[in-house]
Amino acid sequence: MKRSFIEVPVASHFPIQNLPYGIFSKQDGKKRIGVAIGEYVLDLSALQEEGILEGSYFQSDSLNAFIATGRSEWWKVRAVLQELLDENSTQLRDNQKLRDSVIVPQKNVSMHLPVSIGDYTDFYSSKEHATNVGTMFRDPNNALLPNWVHIPVAYHGRASSVVVSGTSVRRPCGQTKADEAELPSFGPCRLMDFELEMGCIVGKENSLGEPVPVEQAHEHVFGMVLVNDWSARDIQKWEYVPLGPFLAKNLATSISPWVVTLEALEECRVAGPKQDPEPLPYLKQNGEWAFDIELEVKLKTERMGEYSSIAKSNFKYMYWSICQQLAHHTSNGCNLRVGDLLASGTISGPTPETYGSLLELTWRGTKPIQLSSGEERKFLQDGDSLLLTGSSVRDGYTIGFGEVEGTILPPLIDEKLLVER
Ligand code: CA
Repeated sequence: MKRSFIEVPVASHFPIQNLPYGIFSKQDGKKRIGVAIGEYVLDLSALQEEGILEGSYFQSDSLNAFIATGRSEWWKVRAVLQELLDENSTQLRDNQKLRDSVIVPQKNVSMHLPVSIGDYTDFYSSKEHATNVGTMFRDPNNALLPNWVHIPVAYHGRASSVVVSGTSVRRPCGQTKADEAELPSFGPCRLMDFELEMGCIVGKENSLGEPVPVEQAHEHVFGMVLVNDWSARDIQKWEYVPLGPFLAKNLATSISPWVVTLEALEECRVAGPKQDPEPLPYLKQNGEWAFDIELEVKLKTERMGEYSSIAKSNFKYMYWSICQQLAHHTSNGCNLRVGDLLASGTISGPTPETYGSLLELTWRGTKPIQLSSGEERKFLQDGDSLLLTGSSVRDGYTIGFGEVEGTILPPLIDEKLLVER
């Protein structure tokens, strides 16, 4: 088994087999590209200055220029880094001066949004999630709409409000309507929720008008991140007919700072759920394209000293694969660009403890979650923090995503504009 001379605990998300890319800054504030290894960051911009890596893009404030160089370059850089960090390789291991200039403890750096995201699309690809939501909001007997088993359903989100882990999220104000009220109200969201998701970072563009065949779709994905698609359920319920999600969703979407490459995830691939009915030919795919990535959701209120687990799911539950999503997205000729974010949709599993949102975990607030502090939660309160993690335990090491975290801030209220009914 490959090992690095940098000590990496077995449970660490970042062994030499992973090497996810991110954008970080040190005290000088200058953004640059780094790779996570154990509890450290390997500074690729410094490696380039030392002549060990080629390519000016390592000095960038986003991964886009590096990603745009293409798969053969990604593989080349990965091979160079794995060789450099290998326990038997002397070039870096035995050069303390070089180590001091290119290796930085993660605790001493700030992480930034890893990519400049041009467009953000959010799918709805968990059958269990779509069934739960359909059961609660429409009809338990016809919970899935007829198109769902044929189309990887999605909507266009908003890229400008995608934020990196650690960014606080303000509770939005918005228009809502209580079932018994005749007219809508305007005020702070009362049903603030999270959505446990993962997202693909597009690595290769397709030209406008040219679909990507499903069998080539994986070549258009650079890597993946964890996603928390914050959701204002009461705003969503009133606004989503007939055109779908809008202000309930674009208030903020949080992503993890480290992009785990598809190469690193290769051995986490497993068969997805059986698809019945058979997908149309343009979505029909050979090979195993689900990923065995264990996911966990943790919550901490202002009164709690530490996080407490509230759900555990797995990315392998997704009905539609990332390749099917990408093939469908481009099937009309829509052009995806490098750095675009394609999120999976809420990842819910088959049992209640595997649900990926409070809406489902508390079944629309009817079954509050009991917390160790003695508090209970139906939806998120101001000051609550939420943390998502994801990892895949392999033979002797772990391929992980780190975490995506965010805290709910109180709303900005203009008393003159409040209308309560
Ligand atoms: Ca979502």
